[in-house]
Amino acid sequence: MSETSASSLTSHADAAFQICITPSCRSTFSVDEVHVACPKCGNLLDIDYDWNRLPVPSSLRDFEARWATRNNPLDFSGVWRFRDLLRFAPDKSIVTIGEGQTMLRGSSPVAKFVGLNAGNLLMQHEGLNPSGSFKDNGMTAATTHARLIGARSVACASTGNTSASLAIYGSATGLFDVIVFVGSGKIAFGKLSQALDYGALTLQIQGDFDDALKQVREVCRREGIYLCNSVNPFRLEGQKTIMLRVLEGLNWEVPDWIVVPGGNLGNSSAFGKAFLELKELGLIDRIPRLAVINAAGANTLYQLFEEQGIRWNSGETDDVLIDGFFAKMDEEDRHASTLASAIEINRPVSLRKCLRALDICDGVVRQVSDQEILDAKAQIGAGGFGCEPASAASVAGAKLLREEGVIAASDRVVCILTGHQLKDPNATVGYHSSSPGDMDKKLAERGISAVQFANLPVPVENDLDQILETIRRRTS
Ligand SMILES: *Cc1c(COP(=O)(O)O)cnc(C)c1O
Ligand SMILES: [Zn+2]
Repeated sequence: MSETSASSLTSHADAAFQICITPSCRSTFSVDEVHVACPKCGNLLDIDYDWNRLPVPSSLRDFEARWATRNNPLDFSGVWRFRDLLRFAPDKSIVTIGEGQTMLRGSSPVAKFVGLNAGNLLMQHEGLNPSGSFKDNGMTAATTHARLIGARSVACASTGNTSASLAIYGSATGLFDVIVFVGSGKIAFGKLSQALDYGALTLQIQGDFDDALKQVREVCRREGIYLCNSVNPFRLEGQKTIMLRVLEGLNWEVPDWIVVPGGNLGNSSAFGKAFLELKELGLIDRIPRLAVINAAGANTLYQLFEEQGIRWNSGETDDVLIDGFFAKMDEEDRHASTLASAIEINRPVSLRKCLRALDICDGVVRQVSDQEILDAKAQIGAGGFGCEPASAASVAGAKLLREEGVIAASDRVVCILTGHQLKDPNATVGYHSSSPGDMDKKLAERGISAVQFANLPVPVENDLDQILETIRRRTS
């Protein structure tokens, strides 16, 4: 797997291609083309590879050789050090800003909270990425493709983190003009502050994420701007590497469960694709189970998968039922509503790919309330990690599955913490400043009535004796 073999054996355009996920269509397109849907049938596209023509390592352990060559930015990147498994661009086109320096770590207090044996709950901290969320794993791949095809302007719609990520790739590389579309009043301030600080043209649309996505798709189509939402299949290629780093963190052992929050369902889709490829390449011997966790206020996947029994069904999804579900949603004017703003999405664009991932990974879907999310978030914080509300859905979901007996106490469980704690300080401070009779207004609006893990700030006079007396009282 030397560098010379990786780049000289075959060129990217020969071995990588885009392919429609509909079994009866399977149209293919070159990676030099730009599509956000199959031009023939409208379904999502995958990136696929002719693995026989690519230098694939014989063991995942082979990737460890790149730890020694971290002065090469491609080997430093937690995404591109696995580039042999997402070889759609030549090395010289790759856009990297050092993403993927993330870590897998256990926490006994959180394991106890979830109901797992000590040592069996691990958290993959994707908030440590340059823009503070896992989105950078995908954006490095999407911007690489944008560069490959010569795009100068890039855009996305976002609940916040996608825009922060795209904005930083624009400003850190100087390669692109960035336009981001956000719903007005919906975005957490940490995220909005990033888009502004990184200099992106930031459009606040009067509407929610689903509205913003609809608009940006049309704008990109008309103006020839490169679209970086997760309808872009290249993004998911980068997100596959989150699972590679999880395996790396486990010394290349496969865990029993991967638990991930579900919003637009790009991450869960990418994870399923990663495990299928690794299994087919003989790099792992089994596939972990996948749990996708919705917020109860944005539970389309939960309703379709668990309540209506919709399945991937070898790609023959029950589109009449799915379309009927969305038609009814429009008719009743139902909108997503949860404090976990990163997953406040009712029309997940990667729905069908996620159904496929659930099929590959013998997956389950659960929903958790905002109350459960914030309680789990406080426990994650107390356990030495920080995350934003959406991320805590993973731990809340693991706890629920443990209570149901679906997950056993002896199972090894990896929860993905998708975004950094500082993304949404209002939610954190709101929780810790509340008491049963005196709830934070924003939390109360969302039906939060208990704050069992609140760590209240203690007001004290500007007086040394009183300060000492308070500390002694609180620490004795
Ligand atoms: C985008 C995002 C999600 C949702 O991920 P999908 O791939 O859209 O399902 C969850 N948490 C955070 C912090 C996010 O930024
Ligand atoms: Zn098609």
